[in-house]
Amino acid sequence: MLIPMSVQLQFGESPILCEATVPLEPVELSEVLPAFRLIADQLIDAAIDKAASENKAVSCKKGCGACCRMAVPVSEPEAYRLRSVVDAMPEPQKSRVQERFALGMEVFGRTGLLTNMFQRVSGEEEEQSAMAKLDAYYATGVACPFLEDESCSIYDERPLICREFLVTSPAENCANIDGAGVERLPTLARPGDALILIASNPNEKRIASMPMIQILEWTNEHPNQPEANPGPEWMGLFVQTLQTKANNSI
Ligand code: SF4
Repeated sequence: MLIPMSVQLQFGESPILCEATVPLEPVELSEVLPAFRLIADQLIDAAIDKAASENKAVSCKKGCGACCRMAVPVSEPEAYRLRSVVDAMPEPQKSRVQERFALGMEVFGRTGLLTNMFQRVSGEEEEQSAMAKLDAYYATGVACPFLEDESCSIYDERPLICREFLVTSPAENCANIDGAGVERLPTLARPGDALILIASNPNEKRIASMPMIQILEWTNEHPNQPEANPGPEWMGLFVQTLQTKANNSI
């Protein structure tokens, strides 16, 4: 049974009221994704409106897939969800997408780049090493397996990070590996990060996310999702994490 929830987030002087429905019964975190996406979309719309009031417009458009060649961090719950999206694809699309995943994994298997790609970093050295890995990933030019004709073929199912990664700088700047000239839309909060945090064990260095190219291999190796909780409980955790992170960045 789905129940409606209203949540209020406060960013400085600006309150944002979001509406979503969540399952009342205990469910795996991936089952609450539709509600998290609704909240993310509302926060992103608010950020776009704010940018427009400063005469800035989002320059991302259909046919520009530069950011889909980055190491896109996908949370574990989203990996399970995307796995089921691939499994449900009709042929020949399914085989085509699976083949792209396999080819990408072959490229990265040779480099060792994917090992511990996303984890908590401490100190300048670890931070620089993490940045170098991201640059090296981008330099391979391997695209997200869901990118078709430079557009997202799973637009409604795309992860939170894909929804919130928008730029206001010229689209051609996104091809710069070092990010020069790229101006990212400032969002009031980062729903993608909040989801990764609530799925992660706070005592582990590893965080509950992986580069997109790894999701099929990872879900093969980890077929079972962790604990189930009632939908309102997951939503409470998500909102609390979003708000805490936003407060810390003000
Ligand atoms: S899921 Fe879609 S938007 Fe996200 S990286 Fe892949 S192709 Fe791009």
